[in-house]
Amino acid sequence: MITRAQLAALDAADPLAPMRERFHVPQGVIYLDGNSLGPMPRATPGRVAEVVAREWGEGLIRSWNDAGWMALPGRIGAKIARLIGAPAETVMVADSTSVNLYKVLGAALAARPGRRVIVSERGNFPTDLYIAEGLAALLDRGHRLKLVEGHEIAAAIDEDTAVVMLTHVNYHTGAMFDMTAITAAAHAKGALMLWDLAHSAGAVPVDLTAAGADLAVGCGYKFLNGGPGAPAFLHVASHLLPDVRFPLTGWLGHAAPFAFEPSYRPAGGIAAAFVGSPPVLSMAALEVGVDIACETPMGAVRAKSVAQTTLFADLVAQECGGHGLVLASPVEAERRGSQVCFAHPEAYPIMQALIARGVIGDFRAPDILRFGITPLYLRFADLWDAVAILRAVLQSGEWREERFRIRRAVT
Ligand SMILES: *Cc1c(COP(=O)(O)O)cnc(C)c1O
Repeated sequence: MITRAQLAALDAADPLAPMRERFHVPQGVIYLDGNSLGPMPRATPGRVAEVVAREWGEGLIRSWNDAGWMALPGRIGAKIARLIGAPAETVMVADSTSVNLYKVLGAALAARPGRRVIVSERGNFPTDLYIAEGLAALLDRGHRLKLVEGHEIAAAIDEDTAVVMLTHVNYHTGAMFDMTAITAAAHAKGALMLWDLAHSAGAVPVDLTAAGADLAVGCGYKFLNGGPGAPAFLHVASHLLPDVRFPLTGWLGHAAPFAFEPSYRPAGGIAAAFVGSPPVLSMAALEVGVDIACETPMGAVRAKSVAQTTLFADLVAQECGGHGLVLASPVEAERRGSQVCFAHPEAYPIMQALIARGVIGDFRAPDILRFGITPLYLRFADLWDAVAILRAVLQSGEWREERFRIRRAVT
């Protein structure tokens, strides 16, 4: 039997408790959706205001040089590199996750010219699959996407596999792949390994170098708290960089952008992934979030995340039994990322009723209630309070109200 007093005692002993002060968490909100849009760091408004007023307002175009605007993609990339176990010069911040996936997937196919198959998981985040479909269609050289279940990945890789493209932590269930084992299975057949770290960076320890991964992308607005639509990142391992060929060849990825040559020549290394002008204001906001993540030991984040996801699942079982919630995340904590999901046929209206009471998670079609666990600002006692509200919503049946059935554009 878990009690609220036990959870309050865990908060009192929590080494990460002071990190909560770094974020603005609105009054009356228990935020369980930091895996979809991280909350605002308190330092972000000041930093963005400074970049607007001083660097843009006063510095004007001089700030491209004087304020280091052009160096932002590499500078923030080098910081993210520390979070994902990659050398600084192999990571860059740019564009969205979808666009970066297009770039690195194109680079992977170019690096394995005789092979035609992209292996991925059927339940992968749809944009990853759509991007692969679109790239294969554009290339028109017979590439195809082979989709299998998560446990069938290793068996699906063969000598025709150019690249295995997976999201490390599944957005839907929170299930986490064994990065080292799957990467080794890809390499055993001569395929490249591409990881999407959208739900990993800033949430779970990642060591791309130790795993031997070849390529990666990830998201800036989830666990890195970079703000809505924050720029994303990409990584290409050192061994691929000398010959890397990205499918988007913009002027800022040119060896000499300000020579304005009529023909493209790639910049050396990861800089060739630079396409067009960086969104400076968004980069400034992202850097604040990344700095907080870099200050925090990922081992401590993971330890608290495992404790919190486990407690949350146990509490729901203890308090909400008999209401038809079925755990949709792996039971074993080591196979789970930093979220807990439950399936329920009425997941959508239940989540809307929860949100109306200030417990913000999200709904993922067709039937998932998804709760992101973000140890930097989530207290153990918050878990108790969230589950108490979930129980009240289920027991009262208030989720049956018509207003909770209205589907909005973003779920
Ligand atoms: C969130 C997420 C994305 C987001 O892509 P955007 O281009 O930033 O909209 C991509 N892939 C995965 C696996 C995600 O979870």
